[in-house]
Amino acid sequence: MNQIFQEGKRVIPSGVNSPVRAFGSVGGAPVLMAKGKGPYLWDELGKRYIDFCCSWGPLLFGHAPTDLVMHLRRELNRGTSFGTATAKEIKLAQEIALLYPNIRKVRLVSSGTEAVMSAIRLARGFTGRKKILKIDGGYHGHVDSLLIKAGSGLTTFGVPDSAGVPEELAKLTLSVPFNDVEALEKIFKKEGKKIAAFILEPIPANMGVVLPKRGYLEKVRELTKEYGVLLIFDEVITGFRVAPGGAQEHFRVRPDLTCLGKILGGGFPLAAFGGRRDVMDALAPQGNVYQAGTLSGNPIATRAALWMISQIKGKYARKKLDQAQAAVRFHARVENFYLELQSYIYKKALPVQLNSVRSMFTLFFNEQPVTDFVSAKKSNTKRFARFFHACLKRGLYLAPSQFEANFISFAHTDGVLKQAMKAISGALSKAF
Ligand code: PMP
Repeated sequence: MNQIFQEGKRVIPSGVNSPVRAFGSVGGAPVLMAKGKGPYLWDELGKRYIDFCCSWGPLLFGHAPTDLVMHLRRELNRGTSFGTATAKEIKLAQEIALLYPNIRKVRLVSSGTEAVMSAIRLARGFTGRKKILKIDGGYHGHVDSLLIKAGSGLTTFGVPDSAGVPEELAKLTLSVPFNDVEALEKIFKKEGKKIAAFILEPIPANMGVVLPKRGYLEKVRELTKEYGVLLIFDEVITGFRVAPGGAQEHFRVRPDLTCLGKILGGGFPLAAFGGRRDVMDALAPQGNVYQAGTLSGNPIATRAALWMISQIKGKYARKKLDQAQAAVRFHARVENFYLELQSYIYKKALPVQLNSVRSMFTLFFNEQPVTDFVSAKKSNTKRFARFFHACLKRGLYLAPSQFEANFISFAHTDGVLKQAMKAISGALSKAF
C-alpha cells in the first residue's frame, strides 16, 4: 500500500488531493481506502475499519446506503448534467428553506469552499464594506480572505497563513478568539462599521469540537445587528447534524446568511449558501454580485441531496405516539457511547477532554477544558498521534489530526459503538 502511495507522490503533490489526508500531523503512511459500506471502510489490502471520519462529515447515514445507490442508478440513466434550471433543484431549494427558516432564498454550489467564498463576496457587495471578521482557529475552506493565521489572542490585522494570499487582502480579515465577548465588543467598537460580515462556525469543529458558552452566540447576534454586520453561520459541518435545521435551530439564533455542505450532498459535491431575501437578491443576474457554476445544482448531486433530506425528515418524524423518533434513539445510542468513554477517562484519571455535541466529538489530549483555539493548541499532539495509530491498528479509523471532529453515523449500531469503545480504551492505554 505504501508503495502505491509513494508512486502517487510522483504525480500528486504530497500524494494527496487535500492536505490532512497526508497524515502529516500523525506520521506514517496514509491508509489507501478502497471501499465503504455502512459504518465500515476497507483498505486496499482488505482490512476493515470502523469509520469515525465518515468522509469528514457528509455520511450521516454511513457509506453507500442501498436505497440511495438505487435512486442514483435510476438518476444516472437520465443524464449527468444539463447546465439548465431543473425542477429537482427547485424542489431541493424548497426543502432547504423548510428546514432552515432563516434561509429564504438559496443557491446551490459544488463545495463548502465555494459556498463560503460566494457568501463573503455577497456580504461585501450587499453592505459595501470590505472587512470580514472570523474567529481564531475557524476554518471555512481555502478561501483567500479566510486563510488567515489563527494565532493566539486578538489579531487586529490578519497575516496570511498561506503563501499566495496577498497581504493587502489578508489585512481586510480580522480575527477574534471564540467565546470571548469582550474581544468581540472591542473589535466592533473599533471596526464595526467597516465590517461586512462576521463568519463563524456556531460550533467550531476545525480546531476539534468546541462548544459555545451560554449566551455567546446570542451576543454575537446582538452586536452584529447593532453594527449592521451580516452574520454568516458556516454550518458546513453542523448543518443537518446537530439538528435538521443545524446549530441555528439547536441554539435558536438567526443568522443573515448560512453556508451548508457535507451532509447536504451525502457524499457528492454539493453545497449551498442562502439567507435573507434582500441579501440573496443582490446576486446576479438580478443583482450586481456575480456568482456562477457549470455544475451548480448538478442533477446527480441534487438527487442525493433530496434523498438525504427525505431521510433526515423521516428520522425526526414520530411515526406513532408510543414510538420514539429514530433520531432520538440514535442520539441516545451516541450519548451512551460518550458516557462510557467519559467514565473510562475518569476511572483511569487520564488527561483527556471529551468535547461532544450530538454525533460529533473530539478527544483532546489536554489537561484543561478546551473552549477556544488557545486551549485547543495546548493539546499533546504527539500523544494523539500514538493514540491515532493504536486505533488504526485496532481497526478504528479516526480523523487523522488532533484538531478535527470525528463523526458517528446512523449506521453505527450499538454493537459497532461497543467495538469502537474497545478499540479506543485499548488505544488509550498505549498512548500514555
Ligand atoms: N466550512 C467548514 C466549517 C468546513 O469544515 C469546511 C471543510 N472541512 C469547509 C467550509 C469547506 O468545505 P469543502 O471542503 O467542501 O470546500
